[in-house]
Amino acid sequence: MKKRILLFSLIITIAGIVLITLLYTGIFWQSRVADSERYLEIYSSVAEAELAESGVSQERVEAVSARLDGARVTVTDENAVILADSAGEHLIGQSRADRSEFAAAMESGEGSVTRESATLGTDMLYYCRALEVGGETCLLRVGVAMDSVFAVLGDALPTVVLCLALDILCCLLFSWIATGAVLRPVEALTREAALSGGRQVHTKYKELQPVAKMMNEMTAEIEDKVRRMREDRRLETLVLDSMEHGIVIFRDAEDVILINRTASRFLDYDAQGSLTAFAADAEVAAVLAAQEAATLYRERDGRDFSLRFTFNESICVLLITDVTESMAAARSKNEFIANVTHEMNTPLTSIRGFAELMAAGSLPPERAQHAAKTIIKQSDRLANLVKSIINFSQIDSDELPDEDVNLSELVREAASVFEPKLQKRSISFTLDVAENVKVRSRRERLFEIVNNLISNGVRYNRDGGTLAVTLTGGEEPVFTVRDTGIGIAEEDKERIFDRFYTVDKSHGGGGGGFGLGLAIVKKLCKRAGWVLSVESKLGEGTVFSVRFVRRERKA
Ligand code: ADP
Repeated sequence: MKKRILLFSLIITIAGIVLITLLYTGIFWQSRVADSERYLEIYSSVAEAELAESGVSQERVEAVSARLDGARVTVTDENAVILADSAGEHLIGQSRADRSEFAAAMESGEGSVTRESATLGTDMLYYCRALEVGGETCLLRVGVAMDSVFAVLGDALPTVVLCLALDILCCLLFSWIATGAVLRPVEALTREAALSGGRQVHTKYKELQPVAKMMNEMTAEIEDKVRRMREDRRLETLVLDSMEHGIVIFRDAEDVILINRTASRFLDYDAQGSLTAFAADAEVAAVLAAQEAATLYRERDGRDFSLRFTFNESICVLLITDVTESMAAARSKNEFIANVTHEMNTPLTSIRGFAELMAAGSLPPERAQHAAKTIIKQSDRLANLVKSIINFSQIDSDELPDEDVNLSELVREAASVFEPKLQKRSISFTLDVAENVKVRSRRERLFEIVNNLISNGVRYNRDGGTLAVTLTGGEEPVFTVRDTGIGIAEEDKERIFDRFYTVDKSHGGGGGGFGLGLAIVKKLCKRAGWVLSVESKLGEGTVFSVRFVRRERKA
């Protein structure tokens, strides 16, 4: 900027000086011509007087020229033919009608011109006028050497150049000092702004205060924007890191644009700093090479993950989702359907078998009653299965409001139903129920629990064994069914609560259940927040208990 200012002022100075020099040279030259013309008029008057007195001759003309300080004197006749010329006798008789000063004099009586003399070879100022000498009309021309305007300029040139050099020097010096003085505060302000690190900048110069103010405002604005961007970035990272899905956006294994904590952990990204190991996996490499949306499944630390790849131009977005639960649910659904089909198949086969025999007329009459009883029994079993399945699946959608249920009465009622069976199998039964125990739930749900546990206590008991049913009162009532039956092996303890799980498969088609009872009990307890527990020793007996933990539940 400094250099530009200097150059600019230099050009203006030089142009100014050159212009002024030319202008003044012109004016000076014009004034010299005017002066010389006045002199020549006086000279011509003197010459006229001299010649009028002595007549025109070469000697007289030369004498007059000498008197006029060597001015050239030429006398011609009225047609501009030289009669005498102080420049030399040899010119006599030559015509000067083509010279503009003579032409003007012939036309209007006088004329003057500045031009180079063809005779003398120098620049001359001529003044010419008509006069009467001895009754004859003559033309008298007086001329003095006169520098041309260029010669004048040439004379002045060394001085002009010197002045110009001095002027340039002064101009440079002044401009240097002036621009320095002007730019120094600006430079100081710029330096301060650069080193301020976001602090406010100040200047003592009034003219620069608006600039400083603007800089401070801009700095504040930029800082605000940067702060907001940082905050946005922090929130973005927070959101991404708190996502249970893993997300990675990358161009290639070495160029990862974004990766959140879950993905980083899954892909060991922090340890490696790149996705090279992951991209080396044959299936992953194939997906990345094809650049087409695809889903892969991987198992890690006992959990299942889906890896969904989508591509947008050259960018790949990878979404890692823990699908353990959904896969387990899908598996469980398939198992459930297979189990239901299996459980239905047994009674249906039996019913169909007898029906086919009847239809073919090949069933002996003595077996008809047995067949009918079997069909009824298997139909009941089918109906029970369907009822159990409906019961089980309805638990999730059961949104009926809770009420105070008298559990003491309910337990007594449920137990009484089993008395015939207990007697039949000589099982000694004890019932110890606290009075008026109330539980907040639905009667049908509590009945399912109590009925299933007592039923199992009877079913998996031994003939001649014992069965004790107790219900304690208090803040958290506990319902217990203790039997001295077949007991449950350690490895089966967890699984007996699974749907359709039965320890002894042989009883499935007979009088045993479908393996849904405990699954229903567990589901009901879980929903209500009650604690279901089992203690058992194989061959000795089992204790099931439900602790009715009180808690606020949504109606
Ligand atoms: P099921 O209708 O077959 O009884 P449950 O879900 O009620 O179905 O029980 C699942 C399995 O748990 C039973 O098949 C049985 O093997 C075992 N079981 C349940 N209760 C007892 C018990 N009191 N004593 C021994 N085994 C039991």
